[in-house]
Amino acid sequence: MMKSISIIGGGFSAWLIASIFIKKKFSVNVFEGENLHFGSQQISPNGWKALTQIVDKEDIKPVFEAFNAIHIKKINSEEILELLSNYDLTNNDEVYGSISRENLVNILKQQVLSNKDVKIYSSLINHIIDSDNKIELLDTKKRIFETDFVIGADGTQGASRKFVVGSNKQTNLKKIFRAISLDTSSYNLAKKTLQILLHSQGYFVIYPTIIKNKKATNYIFVPTDNNVSPPIFDSELLNYLIPNKLNWQISLVGNNTNEITSIFKKGVFLFGEAAFPTLPHLAQGGNQILEDAIFLKDFLENNNNFNEMVESFIQNRSKQREIINQKSKIVGKALSSQKITGYFRNLAIQSKGKKLIEDIFNQVWIS
Ligand SMILES: Cc1cc2nc3c(=O)[nH]c(=O)nc-3n(C[C@H](O)[C@H](O)[C@H](O)COP(=O)(O)OP(=O)(O)OC[C@H]3O[C@@H](n4cnc5c(N)ncnc54)[C@H](O)[C@@H]3O)c2cc1C
Repeated sequence: MMKSISIIGGGFSAWLIASIFIKKKFSVNVFEGENLHFGSQQISPNGWKALTQIVDKEDIKPVFEAFNAIHIKKINSEEILELLSNYDLTNNDEVYGSISRENLVNILKQQVLSNKDVKIYSSLINHIIDSDNKIELLDTKKRIFETDFVIGADGTQGASRKFVVGSNKQTNLKKIFRAISLDTSSYNLAKKTLQILLHSQGYFVIYPTIIKNKKATNYIFVPTDNNVSPPIFDSELLNYLIPNKLNWQISLVGNNTNEITSIFKKGVFLFGEAAFPTLPHLAQGGNQILEDAIFLKDFLENNNNFNEMVESFIQNRSKQREIINQKSKIVGKALSSQKITGYFRNLAIQSKGKKLIEDIFNQVWIS
């Protein structure tokens, strides 16, 4: 008899992994939580390569905003922008750009829904119970579902991480601010470029994107510490790029990169952010999840054994995720450096910016 897989989660990872399992020898159920997709994410060359092996390029292109360059700039005490480094992406054959989370999820979801054999439940799973060779899922409507395997793609706060790791409580949280603007002036200044702006209170990442078919600008502000809020600027030019009226949303991201936890227990396999909470400094959270999906897709080409798939993933892929998290932590520290270390960082970016980007980012993008 066909084994059943239940995917918990309604975000990017859930629909991504569901699209890997359709047309395989499993019956697939998706327990879709709430759909709260905010803003956009960067798709780096490795993510693009993976994504285009999963969905049709032509479906992505209309909602994808490509970047031509990466600019690293400093906002000085007079609120003047000083260019430290300009990295040209047009020399690379690879594609780098952005896509809104809503569009990304919709494209993956449409692909899954086109397969009539997948069952979708609008349901929040509260408890996972291990019961003799089967797993029982309990939802908020007090329904019980039986399944052979679970893929927990319900993020860091979900029931799956609690079942596998023992707790879904996160400590040492880092505050990160996110915003979007539909202002044309901002978009025109952000056009085609990924900008990293270093400031005495943190750093901004600004890039163009498409939100609900409109040209938009996506903002991230990473403060030096959790007590700092995004700065307000007097300079007219800076206000075009970073309007003071931005409606910032706060995300709390786990900062425990040294904590190595399990990702599999009694038939429940964690996937996406639930498995590897990732610091966003390298913009690799989602891109690495796309690579994880390709790893599993390739495995399933020749072998439908779920437990062997998980074992192979843990042995061959988990290490890469640890490395990315460590690199991300180092990049985050460098970008947030102040005073004397910040001064030397700026000098290094000015003199060796291109080489630094190649050494740090290219290695990740090519993986
Ligand atoms: C500030 C910031 C910037 C980022 N920028 C980038 C970037 O540029 N590029 C990139 O690649 N990545 C980026 N990331 C990372 C990327 O956003 C995440 O890796 C990705 O969103 C993780 O998706 P996920 O589906 O695993 O988890 P989540 O997005 O957390 O989704 C979890 C889903 O599970 C559902 N759920 C939760 N509990 C239950 C339950 N009990 N039952 C059913 N469903 C449940 C939720 O409703 C939600 O839909 C960034 C992250 C942050 C915070």
